[in-house]
Amino acid sequence: MMTVQFTCEKCKSGVQVYPNIHSTQAVCDICQHSFLLLFNADHEKGIVKDCPCCKRKDFYIQKDFNRKIGVILFVIAAVLSIWTYGISLIVLYLIDLFLFKKLGNVVSCYKCNTLFRGVVNQSDIRPFDHEMNDRIVYSDHDFNGEPLRH
Ligand SMILES: [Zn+2]
Ligand SMILES: [Zn+2]
Repeated sequence: MMTVQFTCEKCKSGVQVYPNIHSTQAVCDICQHSFLLLFNADHEKGIVKDCPCCKRKDFYIQKDFNRKIGVILFVIAAVLSIWTYGISLIVLYLIDLFLFKKLGNVVSCYKCNTLFRGVVNQSDIRPFDHEMNDRIVYSDHDFNGEPLRH
């Protein structure tokens, strides 16, 4: 079953919901801020084509890995490598490899950063593209689900 994690626009905490065509709003557990959602039949089947939050069609797929933890691990390994002659970096690389194999994929909306886990149509969704991200976030461009063309 697909889960959808919204970022509360007020307090930035994550709000997790299950897609349900009948639920039209979600409430943040932390600050009680409520916001509108638009789920459709696709979402109930785990298909992500439209964002239930911002209604955009532009998504990217990535490993479900917490970047902050990754950065902290890297810093620790880099510091330790002074004493371990770089062995800690190799260990980190192996941990990374192991984690990445175990981790599932998460689909994100470029515009509002909503996260979708357990997505069925993963093969339709492309990896993160910096140029698309910049144009969507900074120029409010709407690609409407089409890939970037030069
Ligand atoms: Zn909130
Ligand atoms: Zn969105």
